[in-house]
Amino acid sequence: MRPSLLDPLFAPLVALPGVGPRMGALFDRLLAEPGRPARVVDLLLHLPHGGIDRRSRPTIAEALPGEIVTLAVRVAAHRPSPPGRSRAPYRVLVEDETGDLTLVFFNGNRARLEKLLPVGEQRFVSGRIEFWDGHRQMVHPDRVVDAAGLAAMPLVEPVYGLTEGLSARYVARVAGTALDRLPSLPEWQDLAWLARQRFPGFGPALCQIHRPQDMAALAPESPARRRLAYDELLATQLALALLRASMRRAAGRVNVGDGRLVEAIIARLPFALTRSQEQAVSDIRRDLAAPQRMLRLVQGDVGSGKTVVALLAMASAVEAGRQAAMMAPTEILARQHHERLAPLAEAAGIKIGLLTGRDKGAERARTLEALADGRLQLVVGTHALFQEGVAFKDLGLAVVDEQHRFGVHQRLALGAKGAAVDLLVMTATPIPRTLVLTYFGDMDVSLLTEKPAGRQPIVTRAMPLERLDEVVGAVRRAIGAGARVYWICPLVEESETLDVAAAEERHAALRQVFGERVGLLHGKMTGRDKDAVMGAFAGGDLDVLVATTVVEVGVDVPEATVMVIEHAERFGLAQLHQLRGRIGRGAAASTCLLLYKGPLGPVAEARLRIMRETDDGFRIAEEDLRLRGEGEILGTRQSGAPDFRLVRAEIDGDLIAAARDDARLIMEQDPTLTGERGKALRLLLYLFERDEAIRLLRAG
Ligand code: ADP
Ligand code: MG
Repeated sequence: MRPSLLDPLFAPLVALPGVGPRMGALFDRLLAEPGRPARVVDLLLHLPHGGIDRRSRPTIAEALPGEIVTLAVRVAAHRPSPPGRSRAPYRVLVEDETGDLTLVFFNGNRARLEKLLPVGEQRFVSGRIEFWDGHRQMVHPDRVVDAAGLAAMPLVEPVYGLTEGLSARYVARVAGTALDRLPSLPEWQDLAWLARQRFPGFGPALCQIHRPQDMAALAPESPARRRLAYDELLATQLALALLRASMRRAAGRVNVGDGRLVEAIIARLPFALTRSQEQAVSDIRRDLAAPQRMLRLVQGDVGSGKTVVALLAMASAVEAGRQAAMMAPTEILARQHHERLAPLAEAAGIKIGLLTGRDKGAERARTLEALADGRLQLVVGTHALFQEGVAFKDLGLAVVDEQHRFGVHQRLALGAKGAAVDLLVMTATPIPRTLVLTYFGDMDVSLLTEKPAGRQPIVTRAMPLERLDEVVGAVRRAIGAGARVYWICPLVEESETLDVAAAEERHAALRQVFGERVGLLHGKMTGRDKDAVMGAFAGGDLDVLVATTVVEVGVDVPEATVMVIEHAERFGLAQLHQLRGRIGRGAAASTCLLLYKGPLGPVAEARLRIMRETDDGFRIAEEDLRLRGEGEILGTRQSGAPDFRLVRAEIDGDLIAAARDDARLIMEQDPTLTGERGKALRLLLYLFERDEAIRLLRAG
């Protein structure tokens, strides 16, 4: 239950004085989310993205055109629009000792303006100076006030993201009302850290930004904004740390044996492990041997050989007499993993099975039975593995492969199963360092930084679609020389049906050119048909595989050496890299052709350039972060992974690691959050709605 101290902040905005139902609806459009209206806290955390500075107070003669100024003037004369020429503006002449200035009002109302600007009186006007016909003027001054009004006028005005019908001035006023309602909250940050960073307190930080005294307060680098971003980061890291702690509390088993099976498998591999693979396996075996639960992330570029690392991890668990399960994101991948791993596992005497949503009837029943009685030691499958009705005799290790979308919620769900399962997550492509901490801050990380020996670099070229004929010619020559070719079809908007139509069309056209040995693979096909086509391509019965992005993740056909990507400009950088990773897997040289439709926008151009320059997934991940927001990279919206309101990865990167360390320290010193700071930190978790993690405290 949320502490009642925070109630004023979680009240709907319409409850504030000055916000009626009409304005409330507009605020909802701006700040509400499904299931809840716009609340006071939402407005307080809706920070202005800039400001208008009215502090410049020159004389009229000093005022420069283009500048926003606040001038002290005497009203000299009114010049209403001449009769019959209502389109002409209403002018008011004002002056000081140094010169004069015309205030210009279109459709000016004479009575109103005479009241606002009485002749002979002093007034203060604020707005942008323009030069017109050799003369200074100000069109529709933003502010016209007397001396008392000047004293009350904010000289730096915050500028907010708005929605039609809401003005910045009104939003600022309501934000002011909200600030007045802010309860006095205990400090949850470490005081020494705040002093070192020169961060203000939470309430003062909000005041500095919503009621800025200078423009610096509104800058993304301002201590006030950074303080609030740090609050959000700490809330997130603390939630992850609580998750980690609760998962570890449930553990206490040793899930590794004497190394016998691992050695047997390594001895049969047709290659030597890379140094990073060896390191990852030894990291994992150390974790499995420890009495805490393993929470480890293996990050490796496409083709860096994560699958064999997973197999050796699973063999370790089997050595200890436990079972191990590996979950792949798609049916195709699950089958492919099973096909690859089965001979290696079985040669070492390990019983391995396959379980996907497609298995039905007697076969499925047999698999479930063998998992329940422990005859199957290792199983590969889709998410069907972790659904209800699947019981293991003694699951020791779960491996989640190629899964960007394995968010905090999913980890909570797995933890909620109660079993003391060690967890290994493998990403499909590298993730930028800052984001690893943000989203996997509770996990230990192993990096696969090397590619297996003997890999040839992939030559990547970008060509306009108009040169399709040339490309077809090149593909013909490649096939003649024995190559196997992926032909990836474009994303057409968000519609799978249209994607499929485009792929079918290309497939038909290429059949005209290359004959029967052209296959088609898309997401609308049945599982069995997909398997048959993949099998034919892997086995060499097809030369060309026309595919939608189904092949994006993980498919492994080492003999494929050419990839054509149509409309490459429509793909994201990570996706292009992931696709390209399907080739260059064998010893032969590979080529990737990126066909684009011009003219290219700057981002698409940058993507294609980076693809040509490098195939280092770690670098591509960083560039990808630069080119688009972090949310998109991890598909956070879908995964329920944290959504940040205030954090900006490009500015607050240094704070992420600090928040992670801070959260770990807190967990060491006050794991139940019951001390003075601990209690304040609970407020922080509620404030940023990471309070799900508080439930773990109670359960534990
Ligand atoms: P990913 O990391 O993308 O999942 P895979 O595990 O599918 O990569 O491995 C890609 C290919 O590299 C596979 O054919 C695999 O057998 C091979 N491979 C893995 N490790 C090595 C190694 N150390 N030396 C040579 N080839 C390897
Ligand atoms: Mg893989």
